[in-house]
Parts: sequence; C-alpha cells; structure tokens
Amino acid sequence: MLSLSDWGTTDRRTLVHLERCVLEVFARHVQLIGSSRESGGILLGRVRGSNLEIIEATVPSRFDERFPFLFIRKARQHRQIADERWRCSGGTVRYLGEWHTHPEELPQPSSVDLVEWRTLSAKRNDGRPLLAVIVGRAGLHVEFINDAGQRLVLESIR
Ligand SMILES: [Zn+2]
Repeated sequence: MLSLSDWGTTDRRTLVHLERCVLEVFARHVQLIGSSRESGGILLGRVRGSNLEIIEATVPSRFDERFPFLFIRKARQHRQIADERWRCSGGTVRYLGEWHTHPEELPQPSSVDLVEWRTLSAKRNDGRPLLAVIVGRAGLHVEFINDAGQRLVLESIR
C-alpha cells in the first residue's frame, strides 16, 4: 500500500500525504474475508498551507461496535486521543477526518457514509472540509466533504 501515500485534487491545488504508519494501520485492518468486520477511526495530522499531512490513524477501540457491513464509532475515545495530540503538539496536530474499511475491492461510499461525513464535517470547529478515507481490499477511496455535502474526490499521485 506504500504507493498510496500521496493524493491530490484533480487541479493539484490540495495534496494529502499519508505517512507510512497510517498506511500500515489501514493494511492491518483490510477486510480480506467476507466475515471480517468493518473497522475505523479518526485521522490526525498537520495542515501545511492548503496541504495535509496525515500522521496518525486511530484504531478501533473496545467501545466501537463492529459488524461485517457497518462500523459504529464511539466518538468519545477517538475524540480524547485527538485532544491529547492537539495539546502535546502545541496545537499543530489536529483532527482532520475519518477512515473505515469496506468489504469491497475498490471502495465507494455508501449513502450512509455520505450523510455521516456531512454531519461530522458540520461539527468541525475549524470550518475545514472533512477528509474521508475508505480502505478497500485493492485500494483506497479518499475525498473531502464539506458541511453542505459538496464532495471533492482525490486521486492517487504516483
Ligand atoms: Zn462505509
């Protein structure tokens, strides 16, 4: 999955870099067999101008509920980690978005995903769009979504 570390909007005005440890977390949670459960967490990182550097993906906590086709995130645990990183980094590492797995080769967001992302985007207090990642078996889906539901799908840059 290391070739999936760099993403950009079609016009390349916004780039997203996923650090190796983030891709490793994704790789560990890929849903390889039909019965394995969806996983997910939040994405933390730094804002560099119009670009994002994702340095950490939190892993499912024991409070999350995991089912084959649904991942219910218990926000409190993940939020605590985000608050901790923000404090320890002097306000440079922040919550930037969400990730979860799908039992699909090349994942596409479900209608439930789009509604949830839009809601999460509206809850952000820095006014930035939410970065949403779906981890499939053969690739990632990466997009920005804002509180009006406008989507910007990113492509892998090789
Ligand atoms: Zn989904």
